[in-house]
Amino acid sequence: MDETCRVCGGDGRIGNAFGGQSTTCPACHGTGRRVTDTLLRDVTKTKPSHFRGPDKAPVAAKVTWPQTGEGITLAKEVQASSVISDDIKARLIREIIEYEGSHGKCTQTFSRKVRKQLRAAP
Ligand SMILES: [Zn+2]
Repeated sequence: MDETCRVCGGDGRIGNAFGGQSTTCPACHGTGRRVTDTLLRDVTKTKPSHFRGPDKAPVAAKVTWPQTGEGITLAKEVQASSVISDDIKARLIREIIEYEGSHGKCTQTFSRKVRKQLRAAP
């Protein structure tokens, strides 16, 4: 995965193979990493749709899980609950993330409020 591209030597560009013009390496598409072998040999592997060109950096994933210790603990409890539906679980986890976002952490009051919903079906 971290191997250097053999075509461009890791530069992501090649300077003389195509008429002397510097151009994006066709093997690694400018990433400088060796990917060709994997793609050619492992034909069953799905090619990632974002594998296109050097100037498209992966976009940071949207936050879908709490970041604080208490938030994570809460979210796990939400997921483990057997009395609420998946819809409500998703909503509660979103509330935890939003609460974290605006308060910086999950307070005891908030945790208690969430846990209350895990015990009894609405
Ligand atoms: Zn290359």
